[in-house]
Amino acid sequence: MLIIGSHVGYKKDSGLVGSVEEALSYGANTFMLYTGAPQNTIRSSINLDNVKKAYSLMKDNGIDKDNVIVHAPYIINLANGDLSKFNFSCNFLSEELKRVDTFGFKYLVLHPGSHVGLGVDVGISNIVKALNLVLDKDNSDVMILLETMAGKGSEVGRCFEEIKTIIDGVSKKGRIGVCLDTCHLNDAGYDLNNFNDILDLFDKIIGIDKIKCIHINDSKNILGSHKDRHENIGKGTIGLDTLIKIIDCDKLKDVPKILETPYIDGHAPYKEEISLIRSLSKQ
Ligand code: FE
Ligand code: FE
Ligand code: ZN
Repeated sequence: MLIIGSHVGYKKDSGLVGSVEEALSYGANTFMLYTGAPQNTIRSSINLDNVKKAYSLMKDNGIDKDNVIVHAPYIINLANGDLSKFNFSCNFLSEELKRVDTFGFKYLVLHPGSHVGLGVDVGISNIVKALNLVLDKDNSDVMILLETMAGKGSEVGRCFEEIKTIIDGVSKKGRIGVCLDTCHLNDAGYDLNNFNDILDLFDKIIGIDKIKCIHINDSKNILGSHKDRHENIGKGTIGLDTLIKIIDCDKLKDVPKILETPYIDGHAPYKEEISLIRSLSKQ
């Protein structure tokens, strides 16, 4: 069965119930949320009664909690060695893991970070240090999914080798997985027309079983542009056929697919995009 959804809002008042209702309004059977605004770290406390209601709503509508994804805010940057920023990011990530665990979800997607001019090697060693510090103190079984990045600015994680080096440095390897993002892969220079070859490459370098989430986005920019601007499904340089091939890839059939495509004239495009995908997918 195709496991597909989009990112949805999470508001203080409606809480997780509101997120589930939004996902259901798109015809989704999973979703991804930020526990607050993606750009900031203001977080309200979690209402457990609301979470309970959300779970019964999910159960009634066939949403498996193990397919739900949380995305950490962009403001976390584990690659920055500046002590106050480094500590802030580590603390926030620890808190975020606790929130994901309180929700009862399994996966937290994280951008590895930007080395801000320190160089990739220093950036990676900062990320490794941070992940070890955070995971050392955290006894949940929430898995951190490192997202493959477009290589915009000084982003780390723009190729499978960089992600692999990070995983190699982490002690609790079972707590680390990977989130592929189709727009980011295209912009990083991976030609998704040859998706099977790319998946084989990923398997050789990291191992396909580490892939726990896929962000399905088209791209506004050409292969290798290092831009990271998402486009609506079928309207970008990746194209509908290729995206459907990725969605239908048998080896990834149990992996949740999440849309992060842009709003059109202030409206979420997810209902239409999900039904378009369902009409073309063989899953
Ligand atoms: Fe992301
Ligand atoms: Fe993404
Ligand atoms: Zn992106």
